[in-house]
Amino acid sequence: MKQKPLIIANWKMNLAGSEVDRWLEKFDANDPAVSQANVIICPSFVFLEKLAHHAKGTGLAVGAQDLYWEDKGAYTGEISGKQLIDIGCQFVIVGHSERRKLFGETDEVVNAKALSALQYRLRPIICFGENYKEKEEGQTKKVIVDKVRENFKDIRSTDARKVVIAYEPLWAISTSTEVEEPIADSPESAQVVHKLIRKTVAELYDDNVAKEIRIAYGGSVDSSNVASFAAMDDIDGVLVGGASKEASSFQSVVSEFVEKN
Ligand code: PEP
Repeated sequence: MKQKPLIIANWKMNLAGSEVDRWLEKFDANDPAVSQANVIICPSFVFLEKLAHHAKGTGLAVGAQDLYWEDKGAYTGEISGKQLIDIGCQFVIVGHSERRKLFGETDEVVNAKALSALQYRLRPIICFGENYKEKEEGQTKKVIVDKVRENFKDIRSTDARKVVIAYEPLWAISTSTEVEEPIADSPESAQVVHKLIRKTVAELYDDNVAKEIRIAYGGSVDSSNVASFAAMDDIDGVLVGGASKEASSFQSVVSEFVEKN
């Protein structure tokens, strides 16, 4: 049976106070399209509990945007998997390109965070993608295969199938500073990379894990282009930044994806 698509809203450090309330009022969590997908909202830490409360009894799930790999201790400003699971989180984004670029997160750090998330039964959404220079130099395949191997280091096969991969070419993210005008990748070339990711997962684990693992695409996805990504065989969902800040545009992304899937 075909798995439900994963549609992830990454609000980043956007929306505050009443804006969150308005988003929740406007987004129809009971829309039939929502129940045909796994819709995950990733707000700032301070709104996780509110979102988790709101999501109860709906088709929505809640994800954090980061975590620290230790479970407790003197790590001022950090948050652990143990704390996230306690407040009702099911997912956590790790290794988003902004964290890699602005906060110096390496593949080793991302791997430690993914392992810690899995230990607490949080499903990590591991993000990676090539930068513009790597793409122009024809390095995409090598970069992607290396990222899969490094980011999945020591993750057991029973856990690997719970991981979500978000392939996000850095030059395609709408707020990217790498290029003058970021544009979404073409669905066809994103499909080629997704297929390569699945093949690499099959080599690391086996065909069953590769079939089960969810691979989402991220980078300037909105309601006008999401259907063309949804039509691709190895694109199991999308991670949406800019177009998730407005409830109505995110709702359209969900409906369009589900319709085309
Ligand atoms: C992102 O930053 O992960 C992202 C996909 O953003 P956007 O949809 O705005 O390109």
